[in-house]
Amino acid sequence: MSILPAPTYADVADAAERIAGAAHRTPVMTSRTADSLTGANLFFKCENFQRMGAFKFRGAFNAISHFSESQRQAGVLTYSSGNHAQAIALSARIAGIKATIIMPEDAPAAKMEATRGYGGEVITYDRYTENREEIGARLAQERGMTLIPPYDHPHVIAGQGTSAKELIEETGPLDYLFVCLGGGGLIAGCALAAAELSPSCTVIGVEPEAGNDAQQSLERGEIVHIEVPRTIADGAASTHVGEYNFPILKRLVDRVVTVSDDQLVQTMKFFAQRMKMVVEPTGCLAAAAVLQNIVPVKGKRVGVLVSGGNVDLARYAQFLA
Ligand SMILES: *Cc1c(COP(=O)(O)O)cnc(C)c1O
Repeated sequence: MSILPAPTYADVADAAERIAGAAHRTPVMTSRTADSLTGANLFFKCENFQRMGAFKFRGAFNAISHFSESQRQAGVLTYSSGNHAQAIALSARIAGIKATIIMPEDAPAAKMEATRGYGGEVITYDRYTENREEIGARLAQERGMTLIPPYDHPHVIAGQGTSAKELIEETGPLDYLFVCLGGGGLIAGCALAAAELSPSCTVIGVEPEAGNDAQQSLERGEIVHIEVPRTIADGAASTHVGEYNFPILKRLVDRVVTVSDDQLVQTMKFFAQRMKMVVEPTGCLAAAAVLQNIVPVKGKRVGVLVSGGNVDLARYAQFLA
């Protein structure tokens, strides 16, 4: 599918114009407690307050804004373990086009309901035995719909990068930027923005311990595929990074670190108790690396991408208990 040119910072800037007025400009929060725990100045970019509860709205809306009239007629198709599904469903509704979403049958109930609530048609599959890329390609062909994958797409990457663009425009240059990493859509876009707006900023990816495929990929210099990881960070439970994403990671991401599910729970509690924020497990990845001192950042100005806040309330209560 590699037919569009690789995304650049110019595409991030273009995406910022396309999503203005539709996406929220999310708040940048600070916490004295977090600063004193780390000895740093932390700036949390709170995409848990984005429309539909995660940064994914940025990339989805940007991608659909590029559709031609005939693409709009047939509609948009995607596969997703959750937030990208809601993002596509909501963006399609705003654009007035049809959306079909292929979701794992064990996706969090709240995410499935929200996707249907935004008017998306949901088709389920078994993520341990079936291949969502294959199902997506087949349905796209049968129905003539345009497939917008969750991360491996230039317009998606460019859209996600607008979050770091907003962050750095607000905070000024940063020493570090920590970004969670599943398939690499968010971090690729953010790295393009950081390289342009804060060239000496070190960009660090954060993956769940159970699924460190991106870390392995950077070490080996090629995309490594792993089994579906079992982690509470369901938004980063991808098996490999994307083909558009990997060259950007190689060029602009300094390194990838991992955090455990237990460290994610500690961070979720910190956000709830100290910052009064509901953050989903995946949304805690970047903050966990900093707050749990996996990368020491003493004396530095540090951007932390808080990627989303969609979590089943019953599950959330169990995490906090
Ligand atoms: C999708 C998602 C991620 C991972 O993003 P990628 O672009 O796949 O790397 C992280 N956090 C949340 C909340 C997400 O929805």
